[in-house]
Parts: sequence; structure tokens; C-alpha cells
Amino acid sequence: MPSFYRLSGEIVLVISNNKDRYYVVTPKACSCPSFTYRGGPCKHQRKYFAETITTWQNPSPGPRGARQEPLQDA
Ligand SMILES: [Zn+2]
Repeated sequence: MPSFYRLSGEIVLVISNNKDRYYVVTPKACSCPSFTYRGGPCKHQRKYFAETITTWQNPSPGPRGARQEPLQDA
């Protein structure tokens, strides 16, 4: 059996360590136990979607600390 199938640019089937099933891996999710219990990115995502994961882990910071000061009468 092949170790993985790339179904499309964003879906890859990766065989499990036990070779008894395939995991469905996409840039945002994976059906393996590692992703299920610990959250992504798992080793499959890092391997097959390295570039996508990089941008996912480093989102551009949004506006923060934009606190409005209460207006005061002079
Ligand atoms: Zn995985």
C-alpha cells in the first residue's frame, strides 16, 4: 500500500502507523489521534502542508489595546 494519497491540493490521505487505516489530512484538520486530542498542527500537517501551516501559526496580529479614554471636561 502507498504511504499516502494526495487527493487534491488540500486533501491528503496518510496511512497510520499500524497501516490499518488512512487519516484524512487537510491544512486545517487531521483525523489522527494527535490532532484530535492535542489539536493541530500534527506531524501529518507539518509534513504535507508545511507552508500553509506556517501562515496559520503566525497570524497577523489584530488591533490590540485600542482602548478609548473617557472624555473629560476641561
Ligand atoms: Zn495527523
